[in-house]
Amino acid sequence: MNPNSATGGDSAPDTSRNSAADTAHDLVPTEVKRATPASALGPAPTSHSTSDAARHLSLGAAPNSAADAAHRPTPGATANSTPDATDPSALDAARRDRELRALGDAPEVDVLVVGGGITGVGVALDAASRGLRTVLVERHDLAFGTSRWSSKLVHGGLRYLASGRVGIAHESAVERGIMIARTAPHLVRPLPQVVPLLPGLGRAERTLIRAGFRAGDLLRRGAGTPASLLPRSRRVTAAEALRLTPTVRRAGLSGALLAWDGQLVDDARLVVTVARTAAAHGASILTRVEALEVTGDAAVLRDTRTGETMSLRARAVVNATGVWADQVDPSIELRPSRGTHLVFDAAAFGATTAALTVPVPGSVGRFIFALPAPHGRMYLGLTDEDAPGPVPDEPAATDTEIDFLLDTVNTVLREPLTRKDIRGSFAGLRPLLRTEAGDTADISREHAILHAPTGVITVVGGKLTTYRRMAEDAVDAAVRAANLPARPCATRRIPLVGAVSGAARDRVDAPPILIERYGSQAGAIHDATRTDPTLAEPVAPGIDVTAAEFAYAITHEGALAPEDLLDRRTRIGLVPADREAALPAARAAFATASAIDRN
Ligand SMILES: Cc1cc2nc3c(=O)[nH]c(=O)nc-3n(C[C@H](O)[C@H](O)[C@H](O)COP(=O)(O)OP(=O)(O)OC[C@H]3O[C@@H](n4cnc5c(N)ncnc54)[C@H](O)[C@@H]3O)c2cc1C
Repeated sequence: MNPNSATGGDSAPDTSRNSAADTAHDLVPTEVKRATPASALGPAPTSHSTSDAARHLSLGAAPNSAADAAHRPTPGATANSTPDATDPSALDAARRDRELRALGDAPEVDVLVVGGGITGVGVALDAASRGLRTVLVERHDLAFGTSRWSSKLVHGGLRYLASGRVGIAHESAVERGIMIARTAPHLVRPLPQVVPLLPGLGRAERTLIRAGFRAGDLLRRGAGTPASLLPRSRRVTAAEALRLTPTVRRAGLSGALLAWDGQLVDDARLVVTVARTAAAHGASILTRVEALEVTGDAAVLRDTRTGETMSLRARAVVNATGVWADQVDPSIELRPSRGTHLVFDAAAFGATTAALTVPVPGSVGRFIFALPAPHGRMYLGLTDEDAPGPVPDEPAATDTEIDFLLDTVNTVLREPLTRKDIRGSFAGLRPLLRTEAGDTADISREHAILHAPTGVITVVGGKLTTYRRMAEDAVDAAVRAANLPARPCATRRIPLVGAVSGAARDRVDAPPILIERYGSQAGAIHDATRTDPTLAEPVAPGIDVTAAEFAYAITHEGALAPEDLLDRRTRIGLVPADREAALPAARAAFATASAIDRN
């Protein structure tokens, strides 16, 4: 599917429109100085003993020079660039081990980033592209945390206008425009969102939604994003509404309101792509490395694959651990709130490529969404439930949330969906920040930069859409605090790996489904299937992922274990039955990779 096709026009992104991006800079003051007394701080909590820290990592070659790498062209910025052993964005186990060994040799960097979600990888890209020697550590895999449990939307910020937060709304619209037009046109597509006009929706609500959509159009224009990239909102006929959302009730349907927003091909894929772009600029991206005993200028790093530890000094330490941020900086108090999605077959919603937006009965301005998703699926979300207690690695949906989502969507469907239709579910946690006055501040959409008494700089909250701006603010804070010799932020002009659009996209020699996922890198994956036709085989019957994609994830996308392939490089794992079916292929891909390494 061509991202431009949904707009109904052949509209190549207009990369000459810099004005929106350029006005973004001064909008949201997010830096908060924290006055927590040092006595309130305990040692950084850790579940792992570091008493065996003497077993230091062995020595190796020096890591890439960040300063040199910052001047290299970003790979994938042009169509059909061929990833190979010399691709500086390629992440694999050998590079991880080499860079870890090198750190043991020279354990001092400019910036240590803790956390490999969208916030951390954004910070790593920002810092490395300013010429700072940057290391990112993630204790599990890239996108292991909240960044893979989102609704996968690149929001224009409309919902913030309702609460009068004009600054954050504008910031979201600007960042959405930067991604669609310049940095990630291959990963974000225009998504039509349909609100069916059924008798249950009162006149006042219709007027309110229409006014909201018009405000969204103004936001888009104010951010400099042309209607050729994201069309204007409008009212459509009942026939058009049924074409876009075929399973909606016909009785009493008088039409629909239609608006457009951005949709990511996948959130975890965005994280991996930003991480690779950071690596191309010289950052070391080290997964399965946990940061322990984190202070403002040092941390103990533990390789979770071997148990080995080492001490690293850093001129600045950025804590980007999301809902776990208070474990790294105990001066912060977070309270999570859970958002849940259910997974259906696309057929349950008539295999549409549009989103169905359903007002929640009895509430004003609250909606749930059915969103078209990869692998022939549809995601239905979203809840917002208080989730006190310890933060789990993988939050789970509750029965109440499942009932709420089914009951709400069934208010507009011709044939009600039942629990039997559900193929899977996923849930993520938003961090709410407890303020010094004892209240909680909703930073789940705005972000905060917090300075701990230890010197650690925490960046928390926000959203995928604004990751670039969050990273810029965090690195600005680090540069100021540690007096780092950094160039100004340049990320609004750095295309992510694989970025391609318009005519260049049309020239990528690969099937559309690969181009949707990998942009200009799709050509190389497709080439591999020509050389070895077995790589063109699906990883399990009925699943639209090939063995070539698993192989590429191992050689280029930093996948270190079968679960990385199933749960983050692809989203096969969201449906447990599919996960089981594809597990043998995921294991086989690693067996083949190690056989190649041995030869
Ligand atoms: C249900 C839901 C839906 C959402 N939908 C959208 C949406 O549609 N659009 C949008 O723009 N935003 C959305 N968001 C917001 C967005 O998903 C989050 O803001 C974002 O993913 C947070 O990313 P993060 O990097 O800060 O945290 P995370 O993704 O949680 O990353 C933190 C990482 O830190 C690692 N870590 C923790 N401790 C350590 C340690 N000691 N050492 C090393 N690593 C460590 C964790 O393993 C984790 O990978 C949604 C959020 C939720 C909850």
